[in-house]
Amino acid sequence: MNIVIFGPPGAGKGTQSKFIEEKFGMFQLSTGEFLRKEMTTNTSIGKKISSVINSGALVSDQIVSDLIEKILADKKYKNRIIFDGYPRNLNQAKNLDILLKKYQQKIDIVLKLSVSLRTIKKRISERRTLEKRDDDNEEIAIKRYETYEKSTEPVIEYYKQLKLLKVIDGEKSIDQISKEISDIISLI
Ligand code: AMP
Repeated sequence: MNIVIFGPPGAGKGTQSKFIEEKFGMFQLSTGEFLRKEMTTNTSIGKKISSVINSGALVSDQIVSDLIEKILADKKYKNRIIFDGYPRNLNQAKNLDILLKKYQQKIDIVLKLSVSLRTIKKRISERRTLEKRDDDNEEIAIKRYETYEKSTEPVIEYYKQLKLLKVIDGEKSIDQISKEISDIISLI
């Protein structure tokens, strides 16, 4: 089973991915986390990624695609991936289909955590105190939310048409959301 999890920044994708990882023995592939790690390397590519992330825009499709392919090619992750933060635009969604086919895999379910901008602002400011992410200030968070709406919402429509989409109320408590997700996955 492979899962895609969607939601704007601060929707709880990371928290719920960790829950799924532990409960169902899966692997969380967070492109954001991979990119943040790359940023700390101080290489020219790291610096480039850093300036894009801190503007709230998306890193180039090629960079993330290479990253995704590395994981898909690795047999130990076969059919146990949670795609967290990928795909983020239609081009990436189509690329993912091609890569999954190449490695004889597929997406079984797409989860979307729905959250209002008001809640996001609140959660991001709380997270900033804990994680100290440079892209978690309010201005960049709003930009990231706008990027999400513009680029990522069409991808959600794409999965809806493929009848893979399950929408979850991301305003509920962490435990309530985990329970809902758990029930959905158990039915697959
Ligand atoms: P996240 O941790 O998922 O909120 O991602 C943080 C930032 O990393 C985003 O705002 C983007 O700049 C970049 N990023 C993460 N995933 C992708 C992706 N699939 N495509 C392009 N940029 C990405």
